[in-house]
Amino acid sequence: MIESLFPAGAFSEQQIPIIAGPCSIESEAQIADTMEQLSLAGIRVVRAGAWKPRTQPGHFEGVGEIGLRWMRETANRLGQYIGTEVCLPSHARLALDYRYDFVWLGARTTSSPFLVEEIARVLEGSELPVLVKNPIAPDFHLWQGAVERLQRHHIERIALILRGFTAQSRGLLRNDPMWHEVELFRRALPDLPILCDPSHISGESALLREVSSEAIRRGYDGLFLESHSTPSTALTDAAQQITPEQIKDLLHREEHAEDGILRDYREDIDRIDDELIHLLDQRMRLTRLVGEWKADHHLSLYQPERLRSMIEDHRRRAGLYGVSEELVEELFRTIHDHSLSSQREQASKRE
Ligand code: PEP
Ligand code: MN
Repeated sequence: MIESLFPAGAFSEQQIPIIAGPCSIESEAQIADTMEQLSLAGIRVVRAGAWKPRTQPGHFEGVGEIGLRWMRETANRLGQYIGTEVCLPSHARLALDYRYDFVWLGARTTSSPFLVEEIARVLEGSELPVLVKNPIAPDFHLWQGAVERLQRHHIERIALILRGFTAQSRGLLRNDPMWHEVELFRRALPDLPILCDPSHISGESALLREVSSEAIRRGYDGLFLESHSTPSTALTDAAQQITPEQIKDLLHREEHAEDGILRDYREDIDRIDDELIHLLDQRMRLTRLVGEWKADHHLSLYQPERLRSMIEDHRRRAGLYGVSEELVEELFRTIHDHSLSSQREQASKRE
């Protein structure tokens, strides 16, 4: 229960617990406006980054300590609870100084054992709730290790946040949620609440509803959302932020979203099928070139050894992904048959 980490009533105005706020604190006006709008939308627990660990230098890295002061003052006025990302022990010390209500470890920090250790040392004895995002790479031991380091410093008020993992090739989503693997991992830490961060998983506001629905369907304890008063002007993660007003809409539609969810899934499947057809077209073009080369070099078109090793390879890869090996074999035998017929047809035209 994520509720147990926050004062009573912190989430009372919501169907499910929501922590929301801008990716970054950008200016006094921006954080105050956003927090006011969040308050009107019934959000009492607010997130915002004062320090932004950017993948590459030269981008906005946050306003730092002054941002904590702006946020604290606004929270006092509006009666909200606030949290920020701590990337260094000095950040954790400042979060304590400004009486923050929670902090989180970002994906990059969770990936760094010495930093987690030093931050845990600072927070020891403070009772401050710490939310631990998954590391960038799908290394579940690293995620669990960060939690254990906190626990060894007697930090007991901990929750997890799934923000997705960097994927080898980016699909529709910015980060791969690996829902199934995360569920297996959670069995190792059954007592920790887990929030879903649909903003960093989707990377795009249009996909938020679908990812949020999936998290709710899977029994996540709440959402950790990025929300900005004017998302298009945001200095970081502009594409994935929504206005506080839209949060209400996101969840409002949730109640009646069954048809919408099915439709969205089908649209995604159609897009993938479309890509598959495009890839098949590229594959057929290549096999025609191979056919010409074989004819030029007087080789036989059918090469059983090549077919055997290709099927063996594809079955092994399918196994790695958990895709049915039988399906993959059947599919590639069919594709291969078609390639061969097309090469034969081509050869008969040359004769
Ligand atoms: C964030 O929450 O703004 C953030 C930087 O997240 P992550 O660590 O998940 O990239
Ligand atoms: Mn962000």
